[in-house]
Amino acid sequence: MQLAQLSPAPKSTGRLVPFRFRRVGGKVLLTSYFGDWVFVSEEELGQLYQGQLSPEVEQRLAARHFISDKLDRALVRERYHHRRRFLQWGPILHAMVVTLRCNETCVYCHASRADMDRVDTDMSREVAEKSVDMALRSTAPRITIEFQGGEPLANFPIVQHIIEYGLERNKAYGKELEFTLVSNLSLMTDDKLDFLVKNKVQICTSVDGPEHLHNKQRVLVGANNYQVTGQWIKKINQRYIDMGLDPMLYHVEALLTTTRAALEIPKQIVDTYVELGCRSIFLRPVDPFGFASRVQKTVEYERHRYLDFYRAATDYILELNHGGTQVLERFASIFLTKILTGEDPNFLDIRSPGGAAIGQLAYSYDGSIYVSDEGRMLAAEGDQIFRIGHVDTSTYRELMTHETVRAMIIASNLDAQPDCVSCTYNPYCGNKPEQSYKEHGSIYGRTRESTICAVHKGIQDYLFEKLAQEDPRTLEIFRRWTTVRERTHFLQTSATAS
Ligand code: SF4
Repeated sequence: MQLAQLSPAPKSTGRLVPFRFRRVGGKVLLTSYFGDWVFVSEEELGQLYQGQLSPEVEQRLAARHFISDKLDRALVRERYHHRRRFLQWGPILHAMVVTLRCNETCVYCHASRADMDRVDTDMSREVAEKSVDMALRSTAPRITIEFQGGEPLANFPIVQHIIEYGLERNKAYGKELEFTLVSNLSLMTDDKLDFLVKNKVQICTSVDGPEHLHNKQRVLVGANNYQVTGQWIKKINQRYIDMGLDPMLYHVEALLTTTRAALEIPKQIVDTYVELGCRSIFLRPVDPFGFASRVQKTVEYERHRYLDFYRAATDYILELNHGGTQVLERFASIFLTKILTGEDPNFLDIRSPGGAAIGQLAYSYDGSIYVSDEGRMLAAEGDQIFRIGHVDTSTYRELMTHETVRAMIIASNLDAQPDCVSCTYNPYCGNKPEQSYKEHGSIYGRTRESTICAVHKGIQDYLFEKLAQEDPRTLEIFRRWTTVRERTHFLQTSATAS
């Protein structure tokens, strides 16, 4: 693998903005610090370093804001500011762990899961209300309360209470408020669904692939788990259609956990999602949080194997799109939005600085507050390093100025990371200090051994290789994947809350 390099000053010093370069897809990719990019040939790169800009190359570079004396500085400044506007907001995602109880047994499940009789791990009404109060104190104008577990439907009365209390309390704050439920769906009932649909709660679930793989990895005693999940996905999607909502926008989101077994069947996994009516597939690799160490060896893999899987699956998704089936890959969508539109979709794990605490907070069932759900999972394994407070005793200001939070911001700023600072993909990338800590024992980690870096670099290589090919049909599909359409139905303001 070639390393990207910071450009030494070419002879045309003063004419080119600082850039980094990397050889991708038979061409040389240049990216500027402002997030612009352009391909040149190997020969043209040599000419740049000789200070010999042909009129054609100069025109091409100027159009992409690479020529400093032709730079519209106000425009570039405005775009840079816009790209980082999430820094003005504050935590938008508030994950509430309403119980650790779960009725499924998953091969990769994290240590924070508890058996169904462990009602002592249920969140109380008092903790729930204090968690909502803290979330509403966020400086973010829009917040999402996400129900996590365990299996949140196992403590449905608290889910209901948080929604009702949150809507009522938000009348004093006037924020745009969203609720998301992350559930395995096996405890869903028609009554629960009625409540969730009535209260505009987005629903997210997990699908690990075709029936045999899903059932093997996510065991639901006495039932065919795949059938149960699939039936609910279809039923919920039909509810949205019956309500007149656009199925391209409103559907159950399903998340894949890519295990070793999944690597062998990329096409079957994509076909499974399409068959279930999912329009988006997030090809997430396994992450190291909460694994029981005894199973880690059976589900983990080298990241180059994952990247082969990613390429095969995404090639197939593109093929389906060429044939008229509209489905997208989420990693690609996040990176392409930054690469092609200059927008940042504020995906908290892929931004700089990262989203720990300043983009999200996690509230455990006992009222402890963590910088993220990963921080909460580490705590379940006995390491409280990412705990920054408690709903009983902490103020919002104390959370945001906590020394751990400050360290996380520095550690996730790519302009302060060795390797990242000189990486061609710096403008579009992000890292995760919690994962660096888990893998390397330091929130700074070692980038060259980082599984996150390997995945992010490999995916961006894939995407830029496709862009280098300049196939208009693929470019059209990529642009479609970057179109961010607001799901306004799920947004609740104090004006719409009743
Ligand atoms: S984490 Fe991203 S920015 Fe940093 S070196 Fe890896 S690919 Fe480049």
